[in-house]
Amino acid sequence: MVISMNLIDRNSMAGAFEQPGPSVMKPHEAASLMHHVPKVELHVHLEGATDAETVWVMAQRNGVTLSASSLEEWKDQYQFRDFEHFIEIYGLATSVMRRPEDWSFMVERFLSGQAQQNIVYTEAFLSASYQVSNLPADEWIDAIAEGAAIGERQHGAKVRFIPDISRHLPDTQEAVLQHAIEACKREHFIGLGLGGIEAGFPADLFIETFREAKRRGLRIVAHAGETTGAQTIRDAVHKLGAERIGHGIRCLTDADLVNELREKRIPMEVCPTSNYCLGVVERGQPHPLRRMVDAGLYCTVNSDDPPMFSTTLNDEYSLLAIQGFSIDELQQLNLNAVDASFLPDDEKLVMRSKIEAAYSQ
Ligand SMILES: [Zn+2]
Repeated sequence: MVISMNLIDRNSMAGAFEQPGPSVMKPHEAASLMHHVPKVELHVHLEGATDAETVWVMAQRNGVTLSASSLEEWKDQYQFRDFEHFIEIYGLATSVMRRPEDWSFMVERFLSGQAQQNIVYTEAFLSASYQVSNLPADEWIDAIAEGAAIGERQHGAKVRFIPDISRHLPDTQEAVLQHAIEACKREHFIGLGLGGIEAGFPADLFIETFREAKRRGLRIVAHAGETTGAQTIRDAVHKLGAERIGHGIRCLTDADLVNELREKRIPMEVCPTSNYCLGVVERGQPHPLRRMVDAGLYCTVNSDDPPMFSTTLNDEYSLLAIQGFSIDELQQLNLNAVDASFLPDDEKLVMRSKIEAAYSQ
């Protein structure tokens, strides 16, 4: 299936897709190629990327009671009724992550998993609102940095972290800001994020915190327009200075906002399987990413909380291939992630050329 590319940023494709061959690939061939091409991921949560078995083992070791009497029962709880139920289980899972060695281990395992998928660079969230009262900032930051250094060395996949505030825990925002400022003095940390429940927790609650983060030179990203409407996205950009939007799929209800996002080239971190699993997009319906790309938005594809949704980044590309995305479009989504990352420009150039070389082979 060949889809018009005139709405996709051809300028940044550097002429890599002039040959007609790959565009007419079957979905499984396109997915297979994407599995082997080096990739960048911008929206994945470390805690949500930790599998159920590891959560279960940490719970036993740290004496934390989960709402289940066996690992199988715990796994069964990953069938989410809605977004609020997901947040409840996510909060329980993070409650077992207590000791510095838990964090080092999780980061190292995370990088092993990213490397296995040929994800060469990741920007990952840390749900700091759940941790600020568990561990002193320096112990938490040291443990994560140690895990990252070991993981990068052993597996060759690079990571940068973005501690985030959970909207539904607004009282933690000052502590998370201080953790993020402290963390961003170190190599492996780059910014401050906003996640969690959107309804009832508007941007106005967080304006001063994000203003201070920006003043300190932290990069700013925000989940918005996942479960509430276009105004949440507009507020994230205008009131919080968000440089990228997590999910953002509800922008499609507002043509003016779509125009603004396109003109400002604000990257959208889209996570298809997450949206199906949490009932944000109805199962069996095409994902709105199709319309976002057709509207000329600057989109990337991501896995969000992969084991909680039984997915991987490679699975996300497979799903999109099945939904009719051409190989050129999938590769463009991947290159968009390189350009929308917070890597220095020279590193982006090197990464782009490696990805394009692998693709053209
Ligand atoms: Zn997310």
